[in-house]
Amino acid sequence: MADSVRRKIKILFAASEAVPFVKTGGLGDVAGSLPAALKAAGAKVSVILPKYSFIPQEYQEQMKHIADFYVPLAWRSVYCGIEKLNHNGVDFYFVDNEAYFKRDSAYGYFDDGERFAFFAKAICEAIELLPELQVDVLHCNDWQTALAPVFIREFYQASEACRNVKTVFTVHNVKFQGQYSDKMLSDVLGLADNPTAAGQLYCDRDSINFMKGALCYSDILTTVSPSYAGELQMPFYGEGMDPIFRRRSNVLQGILNGIDLDAWNPATDGMITQKYSVDSLAEKAKNKQALQQELGLREDPERPLVVMIGRLTNQKGLGLVRYAMNRLMERGVQMAVLGTGDKDQEEAFKYFDWTYGDMMSARIAFDNALSHRMYAGGDILLMPSEFEPCGLSQMIAMRYGTLPVVRETGGLQDSVIAYNKFTGEGTGFRFANMNADEMADCLLNACEVFWTDKEAWTKLQEQAMRADFSWSRAADQYLDIYHGLHPEIARYDQTR
Ligand code: ADP
Repeated sequence: MADSVRRKIKILFAASEAVPFVKTGGLGDVAGSLPAALKAAGAKVSVILPKYSFIPQEYQEQMKHIADFYVPLAWRSVYCGIEKLNHNGVDFYFVDNEAYFKRDSAYGYFDDGERFAFFAKAICEAIELLPELQVDVLHCNDWQTALAPVFIREFYQASEACRNVKTVFTVHNVKFQGQYSDKMLSDVLGLADNPTAAGQLYCDRDSINFMKGALCYSDILTTVSPSYAGELQMPFYGEGMDPIFRRRSNVLQGILNGIDLDAWNPATDGMITQKYSVDSLAEKAKNKQALQQELGLREDPERPLVVMIGRLTNQKGLGLVRYAMNRLMERGVQMAVLGTGDKDQEEAFKYFDWTYGDMMSARIAFDNALSHRMYAGGDILLMPSEFEPCGLSQMIAMRYGTLPVVRETGGLQDSVIAYNKFTGEGTGFRFANMNADEMADCLLNACEVFWTDKEAWTKLQEQAMRADFSWSRAADQYLDIYHGLHPEIARYDQTR
């Protein structure tokens, strides 16, 4: 463009959690990794988070108080402090209000709606009042920040600093939408007298929905895999929001998350028994033997060791595994499960552990170090999810040469290339339907390759380990979106 300026585009990334400060799920990983990757790709990125009292002391000590102001919330004015620290070259801003954020955990309180409405309004005030921010794009994530695109349009258009701010909203999990009584419109949001805004937030006769606000107001919508972007438009996956996703499909895009390639690297991983790489794959066997020993499984290299690592909830397709368990055990497959979750699922897997002796192990725990040993020691990772917005476990498994068996949904479909026995292509195995026999057929088919065709198996492992799950690939796609919203700013990265 003739009159465009070449400079770093300025992004404010808003989230309710980010590693290493606070993490309850995948959003924390994304907000911890993506900003640094965006910076490396040529953007100026800041992150804004609530200042929870349980953020580790070492980080709290590094924070500097840089501003305080009062945030208008309907009829009130609420104190807001802004603290700042630099972590890995990225500026992190923390919104401080002890009444809202001095709690034992991030979510699960009676006033969560008010807490995160405050956070969203504080983000807008910070953009207006902090001269150093100068935001081009406000990138919000999930329901906790979903009101910011609404507020910025309804309350801040007269502000010089906010007028040109474009908004991007990313859906990490559509199951959690932030649904509250419509009394909040007058008590907290200050939108009761704005029928247009209220109309977009209403989802029922007397309740409002924060995520619906962001889906209607944001300039661009994204989610964490291309397939999930398609699925969100279907009633089965859309959790009631599918009509909006269909209506706005022209601005909806799916971008597959990356994984932290330093944290998950079999060549440097200090938590595993024997380090290995794609050039020394034979060494992986030592990890399998150590894992079998640790978990009380029969130490037999010829048994395919299937691992499952994740939350034990219905989303993960555990009903199929429970149904197929006997058939798999009869065929001589070993299985090791690590996870916590719903009580009935935990009990079922404990029962299998007890029933199948040295062929099945279930660890009902959250244990990061053991998860590393399982990724390294397993032959196969099973992930038959009902839905999976992106999924990290399958990508981590591939990096460790542990081949995934997945259902074709969301990010599983986008990250695992199905084995083709004629060409040798592939990075794992896939099946289509939520059907236990189909899953077991697919898993036993993988075992068949493991048993009978070592050469093909090794080739699949090498291909899986070489797949690109870096954050830089995702960052590049986000940068295209930001620049699409600001055509007057030319990309800073001159190599393109
Ligand atoms: P989700 O975000 O739906 O829980 P993902 O596959 O996207 O699932 O991410 C799960 C992450 O949490 C993976 O890195 C996995 O290794 C880790 N994880 C899940 N459960 C456990 C557990 N019980 N112990 C250790 N790590 C776990």
